[in-house]
Amino acid sequence: MSTLGVYHIFMELFAGLDVGSTATKAVVVDGRGRIVSSVVIPTSSDLSASGARAFEKALKKAGAERVSFVVATGYGRKSIPFRDASLTEITCQAVGIRGLGEDFRTVIDIGGQDSKVIVLDEEGRVEDFRMNDKCAAGTGRFLEVMAERLGMDVVEFGRVSLLSESPQEISSVCTVFAESEVVSLLSSGARKVDVVAGIHKAIAQRVGGMCKALGLRGKVVLTGGVARNPGVRFFLEKVLGRKVYTPKIDPSITCAYGASLMAIKMARKL
Ligand code: ADP
Repeated sequence: MSTLGVYHIFMELFAGLDVGSTATKAVVVDGRGRIVSSVVIPTSSDLSASGARAFEKALKKAGAERVSFVVATGYGRKSIPFRDASLTEITCQAVGIRGLGEDFRTVIDIGGQDSKVIVLDEEGRVEDFRMNDKCAAGTGRFLEVMAERLGMDVVEFGRVSLLSESPQEISSVCTVFAESEVVSLLSSGARKVDVVAGIHKAIAQRVGGMCKALGLRGKVVLTGGVARNPGVRFFLEKVLGRKVYTPKIDPSITCAYGASLMAIKMARKL
């Protein structure tokens, strides 16, 4: 075991577990909220097993055997039998973003099967939010379906979207119709890069519409697994007409990080 590992056996640690529909994230922090380890794994159909696996991996990475308090969040939060508490993603996301100490006021979170926009007040508390979990357009799933249709993986898909100089217009708001629109654009001779860029522009317009409905405030940060896609950020900046930041930590773990910070707070209230 590493020196770091032995060290953590003697430290009090806390964990946040975000069981999302697509990925499960675990973050272990020390009592001052510093990240000791983090893990991102795919969520399987067994939510409880996914949570347990991510948690065990994060513990192992931290060189620790236990934590004092576990806060579970995300779609599968209620499936975690070893949780000490469960909280909504909105609460945990806000706490995680505040914990970054960068004065963000608007959070755009694009996950595998939902997207959300959260507006924070000056103290970083949730002022208002909008969530889309009814329709795949505007989520990571939309990009996955389209990337597969065009024979690319999601990582390549995002990079390719930045190579276009004239993105195609995709007018359908529904994934199924957008898919057939893409096929007919390609068969009528449209360049693949322009279609890929058009798809990214479409998701940015969809999520941008949610932001505008809620009213943008201050500095905007993009989180969730889709924030790793540089094309989504690029087109969101164009649609919103302002800079969109990404967090200084992995954008897919900000909610789990917020849950771990809540674990510290809740353990101290006991
Ligand atoms: P959830 O919490 O809803 O399970 P996440 O916030 O973890 O979702 O995001 C998962 C989504 O992020 C998936 O749609 C996945 O395709 C996308 N994603 C993850 N990594 C990347 C990447 N490097 N580039 C583009 N998309 C990514």
